[in-house]
Amino acid sequence: MSDPHPPRRILLKLSGEALMGAGDFGIDPEVLGRVAGEIAGAVREGMQIGVVIGGGNIFRGAGLAGGGFDRVRGDQIGMLATVMNALAMQDRLLREGIEARTLSAFRIDTVCEHYSRDRAVAHLEAGRVVLLSGGTGNPFFTTDSAASLRAIEIGADLMIKATKVDGVYSADPVKHPDATFYPRLSYDRVLAEGLGVMDATGVVLCKEQGMPLRVMNINEPGALQRVMRGESVGTLVTGDDA
Ligand code: UDP
Repeated sequence: MSDPHPPRRILLKLSGEALMGAGDFGIDPEVLGRVAGEIAGAVREGMQIGVVIGGGNIFRGAGLAGGGFDRVRGDQIGMLATVMNALAMQDRLLREGIEARTLSAFRIDTVCEHYSRDRAVAHLEAGRVVLLSGGTGNPFFTTDSAASLRAIEIGADLMIKATKVDGVYSADPVKHPDATFYPRLSYDRVLAEGLGVMDATGVVLCKEQGMPLRVMNINEPGALQRVMRGESVGTLVTGDDA
C-alpha cells in the first residue's frame, strides 16, 4: 500500500550501535559511509533530513551507574558521546557533497552550533542535513525520546527509527524465525504489548502529538528513497491498528 502523502521532512533516529558494524565499540568507517550515502541519496531527491544519533557505541550512563558511578555525571558523558557520533556523520556527509550542521542541546560553541528549533528548521529549508546531538540535554532520558521531541519540534512529516531488522515482529526474528511481521501497528498496541520499537517515553510523545513513526532497516539500499516515494517500508506506527 503506498502513502498518498509521502513525507518531505523526516527525523531519522540511528542508535550509536548502528554505527559500530561488526565491532563492539566506536565507529566503523565503512558503516558510517554506507549510512551517509543513504542519507545523501534521499537529500539529493529533495528530502529534508534531521538526524538524531545515540551514543551507545561509546558510552551509556546507566551502565556506569550500576557500578556506583553518579548517574547524572554518567548521562552527561553519554550525551557528549552523541556529539562525537554526530560530528563523525557531519564530516562523512560533507565528503558525500552534502551540507550538514551539528546542533547540540547544550552549549559547546567552539565545536558546533547550539540547538534551537528555528535554527534547525532554517538549515533544513536551506537543504542542509541537521545532526541534532546532545540528546534532550537532560539526564535520565534517552536519544529515542530526544528523537521524538525533535521530530515534533521541527514539524517532521515522519519519524524513522532505524533498526537492524525490517520492522516490528511479534518476537525477535533472529531468535524466532516464525515470528509474525507487523506492517502496521498502533501506539497503544506497541505500548501495551511492550513491542521493542523504542523507549516508551518516546512512543508516548509520538502518540500525544500524532507523530507517525516508521521502524525500518536503514541498511537496505535505497530504503529512504522508497519511503520518500510513498512506498510502505518496514512497520508504520500510528494512531490506528492495521
Ligand atoms: N543521554 C541522556 N539524555 C538524553 C539522551 C541521552 O542522558 O536525552 C545519555 C544516556 O546516558 C544514554 C547515552 O546518553 O545512555 C547514550 O544515548 P542512548 O543510550 O539513547 O544511545 P543509543 O542506545 O541510541 O545508542
